[in-house]
Amino acid sequence: MLDIIKLLPDSVANQIAAGEVIQRPASAVKELMENALDAGATQIDLAVKDAGKSMIMVVDNGCGMSETDARLCFERHATSKISKAEDLFAIRTMGFRGEALASIAAIAQVELKTRRKEDEVGVKIVNEGSVVKEQSLVPMQSGTTFTVKNLFFNVPARRNFLKSTQAEMRHIVEEFTRVSLMNPEIGFTLNSDGKEIYHLYPGNLKQRIMGLFGSNYEERLLPVHQETERIRIDGYIVKAEYAKKTRGEQYFFVNKRFIKHAYLHHAIENAFLEMIPTESFPGYFLNIEVDPSEIDINIHPTKTEVNFLDVKLVYAILHAAVRKAIGQHNLSPMIDFEEPAELSKDFGVAMGMAQPLSIPNVPIDPNFNPFKKEHSLHESRWEGSFQPSKNVPSGDWRMLYGERTDLQKEAVGTEGENQNQGHYLQVNQSYIVTTIKSGLLVIDQNLAHSRILFEKYLKELENCSGVSQQELFPQAISLNVNDALLLKEMLTELEDIGFALEQANPTTFMINGTPSDAAGCDVVDLLEKIIENYKLNRTDLQLDRKLNLAKTLAMQLSIKPQTRLSDLEMQNIVDQLFACNVAEVAPNGKKIYVILNMEEYFK
Ligand code: ADP
Ligand code: MG
Repeated sequence: MLDIIKLLPDSVANQIAAGEVIQRPASAVKELMENALDAGATQIDLAVKDAGKSMIMVVDNGCGMSETDARLCFERHATSKISKAEDLFAIRTMGFRGEALASIAAIAQVELKTRRKEDEVGVKIVNEGSVVKEQSLVPMQSGTTFTVKNLFFNVPARRNFLKSTQAEMRHIVEEFTRVSLMNPEIGFTLNSDGKEIYHLYPGNLKQRIMGLFGSNYEERLLPVHQETERIRIDGYIVKAEYAKKTRGEQYFFVNKRFIKHAYLHHAIENAFLEMIPTESFPGYFLNIEVDPSEIDINIHPTKTEVNFLDVKLVYAILHAAVRKAIGQHNLSPMIDFEEPAELSKDFGVAMGMAQPLSIPNVPIDPNFNPFKKEHSLHESRWEGSFQPSKNVPSGDWRMLYGERTDLQKEAVGTEGENQNQGHYLQVNQSYIVTTIKSGLLVIDQNLAHSRILFEKYLKELENCSGVSQQELFPQAISLNVNDALLLKEMLTELEDIGFALEQANPTTFMINGTPSDAAGCDVVDLLEKIIENYKLNRTDLQLDRKLNLAKTLAMQLSIKPQTRLSDLEMQNIVDQLFACNVAEVAPNGKKIYVILNMEEYFK
């Protein structure tokens, strides 16, 4: 029998390889723009026709190529950016594989015009399907222009696979955004079918974000900056109140290279936890600078994935950096009662998950100062009874309510047994209403209580100090094998928070004790919900596991709407709420209270 293995001709090999690198017009856009960046351009202009299907043109004013290089650049594995294996660990350029131009030329008609500063004239090369069709000298400015026509002209199957013009254009805009975002010192333009879509002037990162996403981002952004020995994080996050329902504005870069990294994304998302309503996503534009030896970008041809040597460290620093940015931002509304106060950074850190949402359109009495009786803020701001620490003594907060008005006494009359007993009024058996100096404070009892419990459970998980209540008649919970394994994974944390569970057989646990707040509730149901939520938010990180658990328990065990409360119960809720680190939002991101300014109303 004859031998049957043959080496593929280069043109076919290139076409096959091209499939990996160039999936759609946007992939060619990305490669060409990155080459322009690597060439040191300060101005990069992109023009497309028909969403890049008929034409893509990238013009740069970078270093240009010699005549020989201009021919060589279309060869597979032809690159000026690395030359030996060690270089792979010191990559500072966007490209390094020497694959892109070979791939593009294999499946399109490419015209290259390029001139170095030192050369008198430029060179023009036309390459179609990996074959050089034309080479000539041309007069031109220094720099490089690539024009790619009829992408996939020789791969009809691919061409037919392309999506609608709008969809392909969206991909192009996305690539353009990714490349231009972290290079704000470079000017960019994008033209589509003769219309200018973006004109980005050189500037700083904030200006670039506004150029790409709109000038209303000016007030939406919070700066993030964190420097340690090994990494540096810079950029902006979008304030929690502007979180979107779509994942759109999440841009994460490593050494200015856009990457997707589920684990690190999680670090950011988690820093926002409980400030953003469920099903909304935080926005961010962040770049991490690390020594190239700390990362491995060589894992996928399209290079949106990166491996870190010490990803846990990066996670922790990233999480802390975002947390800090949020904390510092959220300080001011809390202090605004009196005047913008200067605060030490420690305060921001102590606040941890400080106030995420300012209350819109509710004017706050500028003369009001909750701490005045004890102390004059002007004399010694942080001494005396108010400590900038975790627990604000609740007594101070009670001054928030100021003088009682007759309004309350009258209104209380409608609530039967609470009549004239205290300062709180329950409306619809769901809201606690009380007067404050400027008007009415209306608190959602369910959300308030879930916040109180959430912080309590977090503390208990931290100190392993949950109080357990023995069950007189232990119930059994039977699970499927998977869920039983999950429950086992969580046992330590569950014990820390007050559960006493004992495995009876591989799929059954005896519930010997429950957290004291869970008395009287369906504990089997509760545990099933905990397992379900754990599955949804599964993670290896102990910190997140704790947050999740505290959140689930708090939401499950909090006082439900439509529950009658005594005056004392209402008072306890109000006091405890304002002793929380974050009194404004519940763990599910919802606002806990509103202030109705009476004067405003009657005006
Ligand atoms: P890579 O970028 O991985 O090196 P490419 O196939 O994208 O591979 O490019 C091959 C080579 O062509 C580059 O290494 C570079 O030397 C040269 N080159 C490509 N585009 C440009 C450009 N716009 N300006 C100057 N040189 C370029
Ligand atoms: Mg390249």
